[in-house]
Amino acid sequence: MNKNLRFLPKNGLKDLFDGLLSDGKVFGTIKKDGFPAFAELSAFKELELFLTPTHISAKGVIFPPRETLLKFNIEKNDCTAVISAEKQAIIGLHPCDIRAITLLDSVFSAGAPDANYLARRASTLIIGASCVPDKYCFCKSLGTLNIENGFDIFLHTSASGFIVETGTEAGATALAKYAKTRNPTAKELGKMEAFKKQRYASFTAAVECEPSKLPEIYSKSNDSPVWDTIGSICTGCGSCNNVCPTCYCFDVKDEMTINLNQGERVRYWDACTLEDFAKVAGGHNFRKSRGERLKHRFNRKFNYLTDKFGSLFCVGCGRCSRTCLVKINITEITNELIHEYKSKK
Ligand code: SF4
Ligand code: SF4
Repeated sequence: MNKNLRFLPKNGLKDLFDGLLSDGKVFGTIKKDGFPAFAELSAFKELELFLTPTHISAKGVIFPPRETLLKFNIEKNDCTAVISAEKQAIIGLHPCDIRAITLLDSVFSAGAPDANYLARRASTLIIGASCVPDKYCFCKSLGTLNIENGFDIFLHTSASGFIVETGTEAGATALAKYAKTRNPTAKELGKMEAFKKQRYASFTAAVECEPSKLPEIYSKSNDSPVWDTIGSICTGCGSCNNVCPTCYCFDVKDEMTINLNQGERVRYWDACTLEDFAKVAGGHNFRKSRGERLKHRFNRKFNYLTDKFGSLFCVGCGRCSRTCLVKINITEITNELIHEYKSKK
């Protein structure tokens, strides 16, 4: 689809919001405990578009932390798949978050397609919004600063409103149905470009090499002392996995009623930094130390998945570094590995 830019005044966003709310659920950004966060909203006044990232990503709206996959009744020899996919919209996703959703789309479509994820994804309208980096954002150095697709509608910051870009027919339909837009003026387009330029210049964090070199650098970092160093301070809390928009590992459990006749098969987010993640029958743990688990997590982002999906699995949102209580910073660690790699050459 060709870029179709329209102007939406600030108060026009309310019309779009109200229209989407009459259609289904609306999730958006609010301030929670003093920090930007995604939440289900019941009125436009709750929505606050933040320029800096939320602490927790929006992945839970499409891939919930706990989800029933099927219900069964042993006495009746009955088993029913549970697929819940209500119409919903997410407002305020930044380019890195949208890129992360496209990565989750590849994961859950590969092999045996994941019916639950794909149904919910198909009923979700993605509405992006402009952002500015804080000291942890490093998407610019990973090439995920701007996106060309993955959104239905994108709200670019401009003077007294938004330059609206539609990415899909679904986005164009929702916009035409619920909001009054007009052609943007040259001044409004100029303000959008000025905002983008200022944003581009304001990054402070960066990985210090071409992103395409990272798989090679990580594959040579197996014996780096970095892993023991960060392993010795990591608490193994799993927060970095939980906040990450591209971490998608889950565990599946059967939860039974007390009479053991009925139950639900449920999946929960899992986290490769937790001690039991790689524990197998017999009690053997093939990633026993925290350093080994972090090495695995970082390699999943910059090395292991590139062959299968043709992309790094880190979008540079900085959430894991922003959240880590012991200040393990993925950009700094990666730069340390880059320096080690260069020094060996
Ligand atoms: S958030 Fe920090 S302390 Fe917690 S598991 Fe991740 S790296 Fe370790
Ligand atoms: S690894 Fe960290 S910086 Fe990269 S996408 Fe996940 S949370 Fe964001």
